Amino acid sequence: MISEASQQSDNPLYTVRIFCDFDGTISGKDIGFDFFNRFSVQEPWNGMMLNHEISVTDYWRRMASGLRDPLTTEFLDDYLRSIPVDPGLDDLLTLIRERSVPFTVVSDGFDLYIRRFLAIHGVHHLDIYANHAGLTADGRMEVSFPHAAEGCACFCATCKRNLVLSLSSPDDRIVYIGDGVSDYCPAEHADVIFAKGSLAAYCNAHRLPHYPFKTLADVALQLRTLLERRRLRPRHQAALKRKGVWEGE
Ligand SMILES: [Mg+2]
Ligand SMILES: [Zn+2]
Repeated sequence: MISEASQQSDNPLYTVRIFCDFDGTISGKDIGFDFFNRFSVQEPWNGMMLNHEISVTDYWRRMASGLRDPLTTEFLDDYLRSIPVDPGLDDLLTLIRERSVPFTVVSDGFDLYIRRFLAIHGVHHLDIYANHAGLTADGRMEVSFPHAAEGCACFCATCKRNLVLSLSSPDDRIVYIGDGVSDYCPAEHADVIFAKGSLAAYCNAHRLPHYPFKTLADVALQLRTLLERRRLRPRHQAALKRKGVWEGE
């Protein structure tokens, strides 16, 4: 009997790669915003960032340096336990394991809380690309931005488009799952888009074909069907955009 995983890898034509946002997509709330909104000084920096008067990188630096109290991992974990996880995460992770589909989390938030949040929910081995945050012994948060944009107009500290493209090959079928502003640019370059929140609104406004979803269980169900029926077709406009970026580099 052939396992489902080997059926997927037996197909020599293409590899499916899934890229998934974290805040509001895997976590039930935008932790990047909520955490600093509670424990740092949000304004005027958030307003200035939204008006593009400061960069997202500058905004995150202000949030990290503005924490009102020294931060411990115990405090952070207590906070993270109060945030819900998407009820369909297990379904999605089960599917990608069964089908051996490469799955990468791309986030414009911070690895510190993403890893700890996932660990709280028993998830330990995902590939994660995000901004970096570490805690010093005296409770300060130090941040850095290893995936900052080069040659992309997206207004982000981690350029998800560049990550999606640098981690894929031209023949791959790219699946993108997201909910927010930092997902617009990578979704434009993906063959199959799963969207909720402002990403869904953006897709509607720009006539980007997408599957709307409420929870990751919806995504898992639809993806299972697409994988089984080999219905993951390239999206011409996305392939053209990817080609343009690759050739421009
Ligand atoms: Mg998000
Ligand atoms: Zn970008």
